[in-house]
Amino acid sequence: MKSSLHLILGLGLTLFTQAATAQQQSAYTLSFPNAAHHEAEVKVTFTGLKADTLTVLMPRSSPGRYALHEFGKNVYNVKATNAQGNTLAINRTEPNEWQLTGHKGSATITYTLFADHADGTYAGVDETHAHLNMPATLLYTPELEKAPAKVTFNVPQGSNWQVATQLKHEQGTTYSAPDFQYLMDSPAELSAFDFAEWDVNGQKIQIAMHHIGTKAQFEEYVSQAKKIVAEQQAIFGELPKFDFGRYTFLACYMPQAVGDGMEHRNSTYITSSRPLATGMSSMLGTLSHEFFHAWNVERIRPASLEPFDFQAANMSEALWLAEGFTSYFDDLANTRAGLQNLEKYASNLTGDLNYVLLSPGPTYHSLAEMSKQAPYVDAARSVDPNNRHNTFTSYYVYGAVTGLGLDLTLRQKYNTTLDNFMQALWKKYGKPEKPYTLANLEETLAEVSGDKVWAASFFKKSILGSELMDYTSLLAQAGLELRKAKPGIPTLGPMNYKYSKEGATLDWGTFVTSAAYKAGLERNDLIQSINSRKIRSEKEMKKALSKQKPGDTVSVTFVRHGKTRTTNLILDEENTLQLVTFESINKAVTPEIEAFRTSWIGAKAK
Ligand SMILES: [Zn+2]
Ligand SMILES: [Zn+2]
Repeated sequence: MKSSLHLILGLGLTLFTQAATAQQQSAYTLSFPNAAHHEAEVKVTFTGLKADTLTVLMPRSSPGRYALHEFGKNVYNVKATNAQGNTLAINRTEPNEWQLTGHKGSATITYTLFADHADGTYAGVDETHAHLNMPATLLYTPELEKAPAKVTFNVPQGSNWQVATQLKHEQGTTYSAPDFQYLMDSPAELSAFDFAEWDVNGQKIQIAMHHIGTKAQFEEYVSQAKKIVAEQQAIFGELPKFDFGRYTFLACYMPQAVGDGMEHRNSTYITSSRPLATGMSSMLGTLSHEFFHAWNVERIRPASLEPFDFQAANMSEALWLAEGFTSYFDDLANTRAGLQNLEKYASNLTGDLNYVLLSPGPTYHSLAEMSKQAPYVDAARSVDPNNRHNTFTSYYVYGAVTGLGLDLTLRQKYNTTLDNFMQALWKKYGKPEKPYTLANLEETLAEVSGDKVWAASFFKKSILGSELMDYTSLLAQAGLELRKAKPGIPTLGPMNYKYSKEGATLDWGTFVTSAAYKAGLERNDLIQSINSRKIRSEKEMKKALSKQKPGDTVSVTFVRHGKTRTTNLILDEENTLQLVTFESINKAVTPEIEAFRTSWIGAKAK
């Protein structure tokens, strides 16, 4: 008895040791036998499992997007087997969670993924490509989050698909990641793409582009991309050290793609449904934005986003820097790279300035608070109306306009630049990969400006508060005049009307600051007449207002909830702004202005 007990114990110990030392790994194989109908077949084998119950999850969110996307909705035919190939019962325990027992350390799960949304967040599979954002594609187990992963892409036979991804290449079409976070951050584009690469200080910048344009268009795009990369490198003084010495732009410009851009550590997804022939300029804007993220957000990283939670919405107070300042620099870098002139740059800024300076949003929330709303607005979807046209101003544009104001202030008062601020952040937080807090940003601004009191007040007023800078005087330094575009023109307020033979329906909610709001008008109200003149077209609206001036009171008859009512409305003045060059309005461009422009938008790359 004793000896047999020893034997049993000994055997048990041996089995246990084997299970414990079996390599912990998640090994995925992806195949596309039904690509035409947007299906991928995924097989994953988890080894080295220790817990009796294996919990398998589908991500609910994806890095760089902050809302919930519930990727589990596109997963079906979920089946499980053990190492011997015997079926294991698998049970869906949550919408995004499956569990099984009895696996003895290893289990293989197979499932079908439906994927028909090729952008930066989701996945798209069809006969031309497999465009795979990993959180939208791969089931995982939290038990193996720290373990390495392998992915084999079985490209369809007869296709000439190649694989582009930041993942480490193992052999053939097999790639690896050191852990779950890295795997999820590594999208792949499988298609017959055009490819180019060039060397920058010993590292490779690559473009893999799936598109329907010509070779000449592709080459034109590549040559512009080189200039943008060089200008951004000049801002930070160096490129980040990319893993395996390469950074890859994964561009998908196919008609079925959905316009987007999504940053990753050593790559980016840039997508558009437009062809290069008509979309080149906006595509290069996205390319510029995403490449700037290789520093700003991928490495200069807010502590609030670490670690990324794939099972929740992710909230940060710093997206005004991560997204907003990136938006400021994407267009600035493209101007410096010579892709557009000052007039075009000023016209782009006009749109941003109008949006931010005329939006009621800042009276509700500070810039940092706007950032915290990302989970509700960043590709988040719900069906109920909201009051966001009043309470929310996008941290992208609001952040970009704040970046513009800060840059112009640093240049005006401190003989330094926002480039220097970004470079200081790179050295302190980006290069050593030390996540930052808002306090760190304020300290750095104090160092760069040399004015601690001002830096503290700037953060209090313009980041944690909603104070907008004096853009008119700041922009005048660059010989740009910010002025009213339609002085003296009366209006009910910024609104979108849907005209019909019944009248003009207010398509959007009204701005709290507008004449319409103050007169009690709301979304879905049907304006029938103004001062008894019928309003059934834009022309009739213009005519009804043509005899009026701002400040006049008009009588508005409208239908709400089936009842006709009348309200008195005091007309506003059209407050749209325009930003124009001094030369276009015959104002002198002094040598100081010329010097300012050279320093601000002149080429920096050597
Ligand atoms: Zn593609
Ligand atoms: Zn971005």
